[in-house]
Amino acid sequence: MFVYLNGEYIPEENARISPDDRGFLFSDGIYEVIRSYDGILFEPEAHLARLRYGAKALRFNETGFDFLPHVASELIQRNGLESGDATVYIQVTRGAAPRTHRFPAKNTPLTIYISARRFNPHHSEQERGIAAILVPDQRWARCDIKSTGLLPNVLANQQAVDAGAFEALFVRDGILMEGSHSNVFAVSKGEVITPPLSNYILGGITREVVLELCRKLGIPHREGIILFSEIPGMEEIMIVGTTVEVTPVRQILNVNFQNRDPGPLTRRLQEGFRERVRSGAAGIQAS
Ligand code: PMP
Repeated sequence: MFVYLNGEYIPEENARISPDDRGFLFSDGIYEVIRSYDGILFEPEAHLARLRYGAKALRFNETGFDFLPHVASELIQRNGLESGDATVYIQVTRGAAPRTHRFPAKNTPLTIYISARRFNPHHSEQERGIAAILVPDQRWARCDIKSTGLLPNVLANQQAVDAGAFEALFVRDGILMEGSHSNVFAVSKGEVITPPLSNYILGGITREVVLELCRKLGIPHREGIILFSEIPGMEEIMIVGTTVEVTPVRQILNVNFQNRDPGPLTRRLQEGFRERVRSGAAGIQAS
């Protein structure tokens, strides 16, 4: 498998990163995951914009990354991923330098690592619906930055897996926020609701696509707070994200939301999402 590291395409086994890399020492980095469907990147410009946003927030010495969609497409080609499903991971850190908390010298190059791999879509989860658990949100107050500092997400997701669930949903101050690797939507009185953008959630690309689908399909929707106490009364709950796409939540193990067959609005949004993927809208072909 070929990967991209700091300007070069190299076999994965030859990729080397310094132990002084600030990603390793401090999680001083950001990342993106872009889905490729039959060689077509899904919403690459939106992912690029979010990466730039994170790089600016972290005051990286480079924030442009114009070349990244091209590198992503090149890796899809070089790794024979032009058909079927793949994911492209982009990892960017502040680079390698002797350990100090303060930023290193201004000319320290960022470390940029990109890989593309075959992806097995979660078909059965999307068909049947998943189990989730609610967990207290112990993350920092800049969840809008797609930081590589994912320890609370890792611990929460493992807690879900240990409980026999697929996703952990974060609750902060009695309010439902998002999943460990997804955004959350719910349906109440026929209206689709998702938590509003803030520093406490990631501005998901799939979340935007789903809101756009609601507009296009004439589905009543709003961005609004979902209280922990309102969860049992929700008609439908779904998680959305680059890897999970639109996945129904069948049960939440630690509250009274049980045995819910995927509802009609979840199904419409799943279908709308698939249609959007099939049409290749807003994507770019691997060149
Ligand atoms: N929230 C978190 C914490 C995530 O890790 C992800 C997955 N990247 C999402 C939301 C969904 O974002 P996207 O649709 O851009 O994949």
